[in-house]
Parts: sequence; structure tokens; C-alpha cells
Amino acid sequence: MKIAVFSTKSYDQEFFENANRTNEHELTFIKPRLTSETWILANGFPAVCAFVNDILNKECLERLAAGGTKLIALRCAGYNNVDLEAASQLGIDVVRVPAYSPYSVAEHTVALIMSLNRKIHRSYARVREGNFSLDGLLGFDLHGKTIGIVGTGKIGVAFGKIMHGFGCKLLGYDPNPHSELSAEGMQYVTVPELFSSSDVVSLHCPLTPATRHLVNQESIPLLKKGAMLINTSRGSVIDTKAVIPALKSGQIGSLGIDVYEEEADYFFEDLSDQAIADDTLARLLTFPNVIVTGHQAFFTTEAMSAIATITLQNISEWEKTGRSINLVGS
Ligand code: NAD
Repeated sequence: MKIAVFSTKSYDQEFFENANRTNEHELTFIKPRLTSETWILANGFPAVCAFVNDILNKECLERLAAGGTKLIALRCAGYNNVDLEAASQLGIDVVRVPAYSPYSVAEHTVALIMSLNRKIHRSYARVREGNFSLDGLLGFDLHGKTIGIVGTGKIGVAFGKIMHGFGCKLLGYDPNPHSELSAEGMQYVTVPELFSSSDVVSLHCPLTPATRHLVNQESIPLLKKGAMLINTSRGSVIDTKAVIPALKSGQIGSLGIDVYEEEADYFFEDLSDQAIADDTLARLLTFPNVIVTGHQAFFTTEAMSAIATITLQNISEWEKTGRSINLVGS
């Protein structure tokens, strides 16, 4: 099948070419993001492969449909960037990769927690300057601390199992509770209880109307004073503007984010020779107790390989049967 692969980086091309060794599909790699301005690059392609920051709104989908596109193959789990109603009305199917390696994201979450807690980012820079002092590097034992997991799906479960191994107590919130972390002693509680009892709150829910700005001006005061907040889910689960005064006052003790609500103009690009125009992002980067990574939690060899393989399998299945087990909304 002819597939236009948007937002392509060299690493995407490498993993997709490897997954398409038999040349079953005809892949065209396109560097720009997919938006209602760049859709023309997909004109005549029955399938379009898109990533997290491509904007598949109604306007873009209408143009794609007029150009002959019948399938959007997302190479990610989240689908908050697609207007599913418009896609359905236009007869465009949407497939995604619901699971590739939950360990990739769970382990990156732990990396953020460990770096923030033990100030690895600061000690790395300090030692390279010949400064071996310990002032300001004091951390805490994770053993015995309480970890609040918002969203106990595949990634939340993988993360909970790791934190249980550290000797942490686990609290969870999920509108669809299940027993996967019961052996680890996880207790389901309400969001306010989770916020007020956790030393670390980690977000692993999808971005939906219910989770948009779940962490906001009203809910931040519920957090334990000085708690660590981690977000590797989607940026808009946090109202970032509300987090800045909380970091200044110490209500939030530290913040680790792999996603940011306005990340689309920044993440995945080398903008090191430019000033950051986004004042909220720029302010966040000034805090010593904030670590921002550029949506890299998924970025392991195992995850990239699985993403490319499953994306192409989804397309093959859809091409042969008109359906896919990974159809969004089925
Ligand atoms: P999943 O579908 O397995 O689990 C999501 C869980 O969130 C489900 O158990 C669901 O019931 C729960 N949930 C739904 N609404 C909720 C709410 N209002 N409050 C709390 N929980 C709620 O998904 P997953 O594979 O674990 O991925 C979780 C999220 O992580 C994805 O939606 C995606 O946004 C994000 N993600 C980020 C990266 C990255 O690189 N940073 C990579 C993959 C996924």
C-alpha cells in the first residue's frame, strides 16, 4: 500500500524500512508534521502514517479524504490529536499501536524520579566543573514512600511493579480499576486521596475531556506539600501555568515532565540556536528542581521496532480485510 509517513526523523525511517524488509508497502517519508497546511503532501496516498504532534483536525481530514486517503495509521498509542468524529463521517478509519513497550515509558518515568530525587542532572554538571560538593544534592529514600499512580493501564502497571521493587507503597486511581497490581498491595483511592497521601504522583492516563488539566489550580493544593509530580502521559493533563507558582512556593517539590501541552512547536526539533518564545516552557527550564525531556519516554530500540512492525501489520490487515484489531473506537 502507498503510505505517506509524516513527521519522519532518520530513526523512524530506519525502523520502518527494517519492518518493511519484504517491501510489502510503498513508504514515502515526509519530514514536515501533518497539518491542514501540509496535507497536500499526502494527496493520492490511501494511507497516512502520523505521529503524536500531527494535527488531524476536521479541516485536515476533509482535505485528506478529498485526496483519496482512507486510513490513518497512528504510530503511537494516544489518539487525542485526531478528530475521530470527523474521520468517521468522512469514511476514514484510524488505527493505532495500543501497546508496544510499556516498559520503555515506565522505565523513563523511573529515570525522571531518580534524577530529580538524587539531583543527578545537577551533580553531573557540577562534577564536570570540578565541583564535588554535596550541598543542595540531598535526596530521600524511595523505600517506604507512597507513589500515586493516576491511570493503571499498561504503563501504570509496569511502573507500579518497578516502584514496588523499590519498597514503595502504591496508591492508584483509575475509573476502570482491576487487580493487576493487587499482588503489589496497590490500593485504589479517589484522586483527592491519592494527591494528599502520595510523595510522588505519576500520571499515566490518556488525555480525554476528563483528564485535561486534572492537575490545576484547584487540585494542586491537595498535593502533599513538596510532593514530586511526574507526567509522561500527555502534556495537557497538567495546567502548566498553574504549576509554576506551586514550584515557586514549594507546594510542588519537583517536577519531571516528558510531555508539555504546547510541545508541538518544540519537541523533536533541534532549536538550540533560537530563543524559546514560549514563556511558560522557558520559565520551567529555569527551575533547578524541574526536568523536562522532549517526549522521549517511548524511545527505546524495543519500542521503536514494535511500533514500526505493528503499524505496518495494522495497515496490511486493514488492506486485506477492511478491518484491524487496532482500529480506534472498535
Ligand atoms: P492504557 O490504555 O493501557 O491505560 C490507560 C489507563 O488510564 C486505563 O486503565 C484507563 O482506564 C485509565 N484512565 C482513563 N481515564 C482516566 C481518568 N479520567 N483518570 C485516570 N485514569 C484514567 O494506556 P497506556 O499504554 O498505559 O498509556 C497511557 C498513556 O501514556 C497514553 O494514553 C499516552 O497518552 C501516554 N504515552 C506516552 C508516551 C511517551 O513517550 N511519553 C508513550 C506512550 C504512551
